[in-house]
Amino acid sequence: MPISFRCSCGNAINVPAVLAGGRTKCPACAATLTVPDPHAAAPAPAAKKPRRVREPREDGGGGFRIALSPAVAGGLVSMAVGAGWFFFALSNNRISIYAPVMFVFGLVAVVRGFFGAPED
Ligand SMILES: [Zn+2]
Repeated sequence: MPISFRCSCGNAINVPAVLAGGRTKCPACAATLTVPDPHAAAPAPAAKKPRRVREPREDGGGGFRIALSPAVAGGLVSMAVGAGWFFFALSNNRISIYAPVMFVFGLVAVVRGFFGAPED
């Protein structure tokens, strides 16, 4: 089954299926063209004609990415312990200064982890 597609000049081109993904020349304008591969594009089963080859998806390419680094995990544990300690002390009518300090240290670790600050 030949592959049909169009050059940017508008000329309709038919090539054998074996050339899918390869290169061919437009007979009208002599431009070098990449033959679309209908199998690589994975069209819907109902589609009769390969319409448009999808652009390859960009992967990576930056973007803000949040990963649960050890610093963040440690900070979360520190926050949880600090908060638990604080309320435990509060329930005994005592205020422990170390509990909020621990909580704040945990918070700082989480924030630093999120923003990718060096760990030292
Ligand atoms: Zn052309």
